[in-house]
Amino acid sequence: MTMKVPFLDLRLSETAERELLMQAMETVLQHGRLVMGPEITQFEETIADYCGRKFCVSVGSGTDALFLSLKALRLGPGDEVITTALSWVATANAIALTGATPVFADIQDDLNICPHSAESLVTKRSKVILAVDYTGKICDMEALEAICRRHNLLLVEDGSQSFGATHKGRRCGAFGTISAISHNPMKVFAALGEAGSILCDDEALYERLVALRYNGTINRETCIEPSLNGRMDTLQAAVLLKRLDLLDALLQRRNDNARYYSERLGSLLKVPAEDESGQPVYYTYTVQTPERDQLEQYLADAGIETKVQHRLLMPEAPAYKPGVRGSYPNALVLSQQILSIPVHEKLTEAQRCHVANSIAAFVAKQKR
Ligand SMILES: *Cc1c(COP(=O)(O)O)cnc(C)c1O
Repeated sequence: MTMKVPFLDLRLSETAERELLMQAMETVLQHGRLVMGPEITQFEETIADYCGRKFCVSVGSGTDALFLSLKALRLGPGDEVITTALSWVATANAIALTGATPVFADIQDDLNICPHSAESLVTKRSKVILAVDYTGKICDMEALEAICRRHNLLLVEDGSQSFGATHKGRRCGAFGTISAISHNPMKVFAALGEAGSILCDDEALYERLVALRYNGTINRETCIEPSLNGRMDTLQAAVLLKRLDLLDALLQRRNDNARYYSERLGSLLKVPAEDESGQPVYYTYTVQTPERDQLEQYLADAGIETKVQHRLLMPEAPAYKPGVRGSYPNALVLSQQILSIPVHEKLTEAQRCHVANSIAAFVAKQKR
């Protein structure tokens, strides 16, 4: 019988964690403030502090976080936002929904936006660089900050995949004018459903975000600008507060799995390079090989679930392809070579060994 290795396991099977989260939810059910309860404020203060920011605004999803962030910066038709070609399509959608035009830059071999490519796409219409910390590794923020200073642009961080990661002594959530984070169940710091956060340091921007999160109202009553209802449920804030206490241990297990893979596989195919500027969180552990499709099939046959994130670049999606602006030759090549293997915190020693053995067997077979 072949061993099954799931890409993720979202069941709450560990009793200690289950107990903790049930208690947190029980408290919310007791006080009954299901929307904007006390856990919301507590969550926002805790997360702002954790990320080293003045303000956090909790929202309904990572997509809400991105869209409301860009809307708060008053982007609209005629404005351009430079972003990476390789991300979950929520990144481009948030730009497009403000009326602004996404412009797609190339990626480096670490799968993050290439600063040179981003700078080459700057025009008079450029307003923002939206940097995605892909795979859980923070971008080359110093280079991006310098470009923003040179061209009078704002930097926005999409930290949806990188909550908990560090870069030169700063944490994910601390970069740029605003950071947007997803806490959906697939993410490393995950709620038990949809949830997101926005982080910033500017008080006026914070107040604007609070209004935009609730139908563009001040005092939750008077509408000053049309917007959506994007508030986080109190239950999710309560769950996330408990999970923050467990985050370090979770990250350690992921890092340990990543280290194990890099040692076993580093000489066999391209694995994530060691990050000298900080510690990534390994939202995904993504290998690169020209035989990607064959490896994907080989691992599936061995009972190992993998993911390609993403097969289609955002600018290649039917919604964006017609008349798309940008230049991303390396992203076109790498999107055919990337494969994410299971690296989650519930992986057993036997499972990760099976994954590494199977990849080694595949590489040996290709060589014959
Ligand atoms: C998950 C993700 C989002 C969207 O977050 P949701 O909470 O699913 O709406 C946005 N950007 C990136 C890079 C993501 O990985």
